[in-house]
Amino acid sequence: MPGRGRRAPGGAYITMKGVVFLGDRELELREFPDPAPGPGDVVLAIKASGMCGSDLHPYRASRSGNVAAALGLGGQRGPVIGGHEPCGVVAARGAGVPEAAAPIGARVMNHHYKGCGACKHCRLGWSQLCPHGIVVYGMTGHGGHAPFMLAPARTLVPLPDELSFEEGAAISCGTGTAYQALCRLDVSGRDTLAVFGQGPVGLSATLLGAAMGARVVALDTVAERRRLATELGAEAVVDPRAVDPVAALRELTGGEGVDAALDCSASAEARVAAVRSVRTWGRACFVGEGGSATFEVSPDFLRRQVTLFGSWTFSSVIQEECARFIVKRQVPLGKLVTHRFRLEQAAEAYTLFDTQTTGKGVFVP
Ligand SMILES: [Zn+2]
Ligand SMILES: [Zn+2]
Repeated sequence: MPGRGRRAPGGAYITMKGVVFLGDRELELREFPDPAPGPGDVVLAIKASGMCGSDLHPYRASRSGNVAAALGLGGQRGPVIGGHEPCGVVAARGAGVPEAAAPIGARVMNHHYKGCGACKHCRLGWSQLCPHGIVVYGMTGHGGHAPFMLAPARTLVPLPDELSFEEGAAISCGTGTAYQALCRLDVSGRDTLAVFGQGPVGLSATLLGAAMGARVVALDTVAERRRLATELGAEAVVDPRAVDPVAALRELTGGEGVDAALDCSASAEARVAAVRSVRTWGRACFVGEGGSATFEVSPDFLRRQVTLFGSWTFSSVIQEECARFIVKRQVPLGKLVTHRFRLEQAAEAYTLFDTQTTGKGVFVP
């Protein structure tokens, strides 16, 4: 929770407006106190706050339900500022935060989870796996869709000078999630990689998979998304509504199947196709949230020696590694960002994201 914030010269507390998802595809810009940092905290001045597919869960959730419950998360009740891809500069430091850990003005991303800070998962940078309960900023704690955001100093991840704040926002969930999934799949230049779904995560996987040397086949039902995937490095594209995707991927691989497949769509059909499309000894990975999948264990999976991974976002360490990889390999991540909005345009931005979805939207001041 934010502190009581700064006082204006007249004595009144300064307030800011943040985006709150109300459910039933409604949101509002609500006033909150300008956050003040407690011990161990920093306040970030937000320079870019990305829109992620997971935001559509609280956006679309039933108004009568708990927004956090839409993602299977616990956490505080009451209005929460959305946005879990925060990127900006350090604006204030609380007690006990050494200057070197968060210099004022430092360009930073936020690893958008707070755990206990002491267990083995937290110490490895995987605070979202903390067994003692977590805060997910933008879901169960105030996030980045506001001018300022309060966060523990230990959740900061440096943003390389070569990257824009918009790119940093993308890395803070969608692109970082794609990077970690490709690491799970151990993607390399020996692989043909199929990426199911070309939303912000899938497009990132296409970009990063190509930069890792893989031959990428991008699948999506939307022609505009397939076009962008081609621009971002896909060697081939497939419309899974026009053709059988498993047959199409076999055809592209001499009948054998792809080496690795990643589902970023959360569609049950795409998940099954991802498992079926890999070659014998192939690898598949699911990163799309929610829903289910049903496949035949023996023919689809077990008798073909398939390895299947589940992958949930990334650690704070991998987040930094992802940013460095993008710099080193000169990955044109900026091309992913197709829509820029002011916070005042949040209703319009989410309506568009909910219905027409090519590329990625980011809120900028
Ligand atoms: Zn912990
Ligand atoms: Zn996300």
